Amino acid sequence: MRRLRNVKIVATLGPASNDYDMIRALFEAGADVFRLNMSHGDHSEIRARHGIIRQIEKDLDSPIAILADLQGPKLRCGAFAGDRGFDLEDGAPFRFDLDETPGDESRVQLPHPEIFAALEVGAHLLVNDGKVKLKVEACGEDFADCVVVAGGPISNRKGVNVPDVVLPLAALSEKDRRDLEFVCELGVDWLALSFVQRAEDVTEARELARDRAAILSKIEKPAGEKAFDEILAVSDGIMVARGDLGVELPVQNVPPIQKRLVRKCRSAAKPVIVATQMLESMIESPVPTRAEVSDVATAIYEGADAVMLSAESAAGGYPVEAVTTMNNVAIEVEGDPTYHEIMRASRHVNRSSVADGIVASAREIAETTDIKAICCFTQSGTTASLVARERPAVPILALTPLRHVARRLCLTWGTNCFVTEGEVSRFKLAVVNAARAAREGGFASEDDLIVVTAGVPFNVQGTTNILRVAPCAERLIFSTDPD
Ligand code: PGA
Ligand code: MN
Repeated sequence: MRRLRNVKIVATLGPASNDYDMIRALFEAGADVFRLNMSHGDHSEIRARHGIIRQIEKDLDSPIAILADLQGPKLRCGAFAGDRGFDLEDGAPFRFDLDETPGDESRVQLPHPEIFAALEVGAHLLVNDGKVKLKVEACGEDFADCVVVAGGPISNRKGVNVPDVVLPLAALSEKDRRDLEFVCELGVDWLALSFVQRAEDVTEARELARDRAAILSKIEKPAGEKAFDEILAVSDGIMVARGDLGVELPVQNVPPIQKRLVRKCRSAAKPVIVATQMLESMIESPVPTRAEVSDVATAIYEGADAVMLSAESAAGGYPVEAVTTMNNVAIEVEGDPTYHEIMRASRHVNRSSVADGIVASAREIAETTDIKAICCFTQSGTTASLVARERPAVPILALTPLRHVARRLCLTWGTNCFVTEGEVSRFKLAVVNAARAAREGGFASEDDLIVVTAGVPFNVQGTTNILRVAPCAERLIFSTDPD
């Protein structure tokens, strides 16, 4: 399905987006990638949503990416007496311990002995999305005595963040391992890892996933941000997970981190998602605030591959309106000449391979003459990612015989994905296929020119070595092109 913008939209599914009609409406409104959040919903619900997405993909004959987001080592406190909430006052003492007895205003269970082992006096604990902040005054192997630095509400199983300490937590909990195996067997395209702290967290998950899914690292802890370069090197994509990041770090640190991460991902030609609270008010309102529109626009001007909806599409009252809003903002931003200036000025690329040179040439040719699309044959998806890194002003068509490659590329900026029928064995047929995809997709007509990149020998990874400016009319291709 042809989109009128390049940035991709990720929509999280949940109770508000559970059935065929709603998920299809989200796709038609502009969602390119659906996120299944493993923190919510049991396996039967996840399986049902997965089946619906694959059905829509079939009905509309258009690849759709599915991203399964593992919960990761999310810490939670225990329960409170009478399942009620308490308000912690500034300056009051409060204790975390291993005792299962329901908590009150003076203490609660924190069922993670490994946290007590790692805590130090002076470290901070944040509870309830950072609403309550406590400082450790004394600690031992089964308790931490704290003082409340910023008071607020606390109740059953609220999330606990420990930003100052690199936690000796396994990157994947038992639940994560079960979920990982479940979604890989089901067949997802991307696997997102939460609270990544080190590169080894990523390699560990990759060993378990065994090529069944591409790996996306969520940067949402100070340790993950510090080790970002190493994490990026072993990841296939990144999410700037601003929700937890803004709890673990002072909120004002989030915008510069977002900018830096987006830039580094683009340099590495790996897709990056800017996530969380983008259109938060649309959970309850059919229209966004000015500030939210500006936030979405900023991520797009920065060159992000994708923007994401969380509760807005999963649990809000206006999922389709939220996708439509993102779509409209994207069309407006990308129509602004300043956007193209920024994309050009921020093209910091170290070109070292033949493919790097070919994709840069493709972009230059498209800027120099009237070219309707850059069509690239891609076996692993790499060439398409390299073309996307150039942020060309004409549409990118990625042609691949591999369905899973087409699906993964749905997350990559500007990439329109096509699964070619069978393997293309001759260059002339490659050009014919590209021209047909361009015409049938509404990107070009008979009289137009396209750029085609490919590699001989065909169907081998990493061989991009041909660039052809080709006509779209089939009789012209047959009369002019070599075999
Ligand atoms: P979450 O991750 O929605 O799984 O918490 C995103 C974030 O923290 O921003
Ligand atoms: Mn998070």
